[in-house]
Amino acid sequence: MKRIYNFSAGPAVLPVEVLEEASQGVREIHDSGMSILEVSHRGKDYEAVHFDAKERLLRVLGLDVQEYTALFLGGGASLQFAMLPMNYLTSDTVADYVVAGEWGVKAVKEAKRFGVVHIAGTSEGDRFACLPTSLQFTPGARYAHITTNNTIEGTQVRDLPDTGDVPLVADASSDILSRRLDHTRFSLFYAGAQKNAGPAGVTLVIARKAFLAQASDDVPAILSYKTHEKSDSLYNTPPVFSIYVVGLVLKWIEAQGGLEAIERRNEEKASLIYDALDAYPDVYEPTVRVREDRSRMNITFRLRDASRERAFLEGAQAREMDGLKGHRSVGGFRASLYNAFPMEGACALAEYLHDFAKR
Ligand SMILES: *Cc1c(COP(=O)(O)O)cnc(C)c1O
Repeated sequence: MKRIYNFSAGPAVLPVEVLEEASQGVREIHDSGMSILEVSHRGKDYEAVHFDAKERLLRVLGLDVQEYTALFLGGGASLQFAMLPMNYLTSDTVADYVVAGEWGVKAVKEAKRFGVVHIAGTSEGDRFACLPTSLQFTPGARYAHITTNNTIEGTQVRDLPDTGDVPLVADASSDILSRRLDHTRFSLFYAGAQKNAGPAGVTLVIARKAFLAQASDDVPAILSYKTHEKSDSLYNTPPVFSIYVVGLVLKWIEAQGGLEAIERRNEEKASLIYDALDAYPDVYEPTVRVREDRSRMNITFRLRDASRERAFLEGAQAREMDGLKGHRSVGGFRASLYNAFPMEGACALAEYLHDFAKR
């Protein structure tokens, strides 16, 4: 199997061990004589996969199964932008939103359809080149929504904000399972799996059971958190294969030594790249203005001399590095270094950054 260094922001690189085990499962699952793609979602072979993945997810995150539950839903993180306010807001109730990137902007747009949105803080005035500094939460708000890692702009929240009595909710799509974090601070957090947790097709929603109990009963069944909680994410056919692969990724994370080991490696990989960029301030310009706000997952930068951009990308391609082109709204380059991205790939990019700067 040929492997290149895939810096894509999502769908993104998966561990080779997971790809190999998943290929086996595509052929046959659990000596059943059937492929994972063929089994009933109500049968015992799939049920074992489903409940194992759910338990593992809560265990890896350090959450108590008595207090928290995990749902496996379709529709991507984008569906959560709408489903969350639909389940918690009414035309006269308030939700706080911290807006630090384009995904946050999209989340706000949907929430406004259902209730009153208060912007608790935003760095839009700085074109999202840093995180907002002063946050103001509304006493009595139904929830406060943050984005833990801004995938497009390359910023990441280090310390979760103190929201007082307001339940903290997060879009953690691009850094879930990437570091140790006190996950009990969240009332609910969600993530499309395709960045750090598995393939596209499933969205993880992890929530405090007491918070889910406050969700509205007056929403269509398929969009109701309560429906999915009551039926253990088996109300309708779940994205079976994606959940299976998420389970394999979680097994891989545990084998690596859990979130502590994963975090250490992610820090090392990111430092390699940031150090290389910082070594040549005349050549590279990190797009994030505040050092402490820099993401360990998505490293965004430009060349001071934009006319060399094409040469930079072609040189990267020649070294078997793909997916480095930045998001169209930020421009420049973006190196995504999710959990499964190998250390050797980070070394290869760092070396290339040194070589290119000296040309
Ligand atoms: C990718 C991404 C999304 C969108 O996810 P979909 O699963 O494609 O809907 C939302 N929020 C963040 C932070 C993301 O990185």
